[in-house]
Amino acid sequence: MIWNAHYEAMGRAELERLQSERLGELVDRLYRRVAYYRQRLDSQGVKPADINHIRDIAKLPFLTKDDMREVYPLKLLAVELADIVEVHTSSGTTGKPVVDAYTQKDIGIWAESMARTLAMGDTARSDVVHNAYGYGLFTGGLGVHYGARLIGALVIPISGGNTARQLAILRDFQATVLTCTPSYSLYLAEAAREQGLDFSTLPLRVGLFGAEPWGEGMRREIEAKLKVQALDIYGLTEIIGPGVASECEAQDGLHICEDLFYPEVIDPQSGEVLPDGSKGELVLTTLTKEGTPMLRYRTRDITYLDRSPCRCGRTAVRMHRLLGRTDDMLIIRGVNVFPSQIEEVLLKIEGIEPHYQLVVEREERLDSLEVQVEMNERLFSDEIKQLERSERRIAEALFAALGIQTRVKLVEPKSIPRSEGKAKRVVDKRQI
Ligand SMILES: [Zn+2]
Repeated sequence: MIWNAHYEAMGRAELERLQSERLGELVDRLYRRVAYYRQRLDSQGVKPADINHIRDIAKLPFLTKDDMREVYPLKLLAVELADIVEVHTSSGTTGKPVVDAYTQKDIGIWAESMARTLAMGDTARSDVVHNAYGYGLFTGGLGVHYGARLIGALVIPISGGNTARQLAILRDFQATVLTCTPSYSLYLAEAAREQGLDFSTLPLRVGLFGAEPWGEGMRREIEAKLKVQALDIYGLTEIIGPGVASECEAQDGLHICEDLFYPEVIDPQSGEVLPDGSKGELVLTTLTKEGTPMLRYRTRDITYLDRSPCRCGRTAVRMHRLLGRTDDMLIIRGVNVFPSQIEEVLLKIEGIEPHYQLVVEREERLDSLEVQVEMNERLFSDEIKQLERSERRIAEALFAALGIQTRVKLVEPKSIPRSEGKAKRVVDKRQI
């Protein structure tokens, strides 16, 4: 079912006209109202009058994650604060969080894009949506909530956690649509089995899963265990939250709401815009948002675009499910972790060498991080008990700095492979 065929199945020429018009209006508005954008455009020598077609977007400067720190909390605000009705932020584990401030109209755009997402799983008024994404500053819970409300479905705002209760509510309210992270869906399946609850006795039909990386292997497992069609959804706080792009029943790439969020794929080194089909960094522009609009935001997500016809009838461009990140950021149990942060903690600890390796694994549906660190000769001569104490001390320091549990393993001097180029700090063994 297509929620909004007018926009989702629009002809290419008409869509480009609409995008061009919206981009022109956006740049004009930002130039007048947001000093930060005006300075950026001025320093690039671009004026709103230079933006006459969507392809002129290439003349505009990029926004990066680092810029987000500079504009925290509300330097990108393009309306009066009184016009803002809601804010959400990213988790902010790597410094300042990213802020998305929504006007009443922005909440409407979010509801619209999430209604399109939910409709890709054929969600209708008669459906019961079990929404196990977290409610709060995180965008997942309320994003699904607004979309389901716009459709007129019954939404169960259960949020995350308390698995026994989740299963009871799923069964008692006969949910037909499940929304949560892919790993949590498998955790639910396992808990259900232990409690003797058989998913094939439930009317659950489809699941919309996102907010963490996952792949085809995990999709097959989810579909077999939960007896649902598993669809991938994509979004980010900077742009609106979930609702930027989502998979249709063809399960062959995620349709981007490109009348609302204009996508480009660029070469992460040169910044040059790449043709369809080429892998690169996804860049997004919010064409209609009022509160905190984003011009050419570099997501650091690697994907490629596909404009070939889709059998669902939608014409909106598809992005391939995420292929990786331009940076080396790890996502461990929903927390963003950079190797550089771990290094910073390790280098403050006496007796260890600046040689380390991070091993990420997925055990029992949960990601775990092992930090292997080389000790120096002096520490190496200590007794086992002393070493175990050191390992615990390092794990505590990492927990205090990053908020995640790690397993620390001290290894012999010179045992971690050396590299002549960039050190290979991360070994990711997760099957996704
Ligand atoms: Zn499709």
